[in-house]
Amino acid sequence: MNVDSIKTGFVIDHIEAGVGMRLYHLLGLDGLDCPIAIIMNVPSRKMGKKDIIKIDADIEINLDVIGFVDPSATVNVIRDGQLVGKKTINMPDTLTNVIHCSNPRCITSTEQELPHIFKLTDGDKRVYRCLYCEAEQK
Ligand code: ZN
Repeated sequence: MNVDSIKTGFVIDHIEAGVGMRLYHLLGLDGLDCPIAIIMNVPSRKMGKKDIIKIDADIEINLDVIGFVDPSATVNVIRDGQLVGKKTINMPDTLTNVIHCSNPRCITSTEQELPHIFKLTDGDKRVYRCLYCEAEQK
């Protein structure tokens, strides 16, 4: 795969340097079969350094995950090698089954069938808390 050119897919740009790998995992990209490139520590005039993820396939992308990990990231939509649009990224109010509660006493650690739900409780600081035990998750 030529990392400079994508036929049909997405370029997730302006990811804060160092979080590209986490975004890759939370988006479930490691389970996919299509060409994916993660480019880390790319020099950026605006950000100093940034990460970029390129996906050469027309897949469903969970924009809530991107908004949770890095709401300032941008998503470019590529069709036939052309930039045809951008997706709007917002911090989601609720995250369901994206991250798991790390509190061992949380009910979700014993009740396996419960969905893992986190609520945005402080938008300025990007604080998410478990719906059940209110443990904070970054
Ligand atoms: Zn919890």
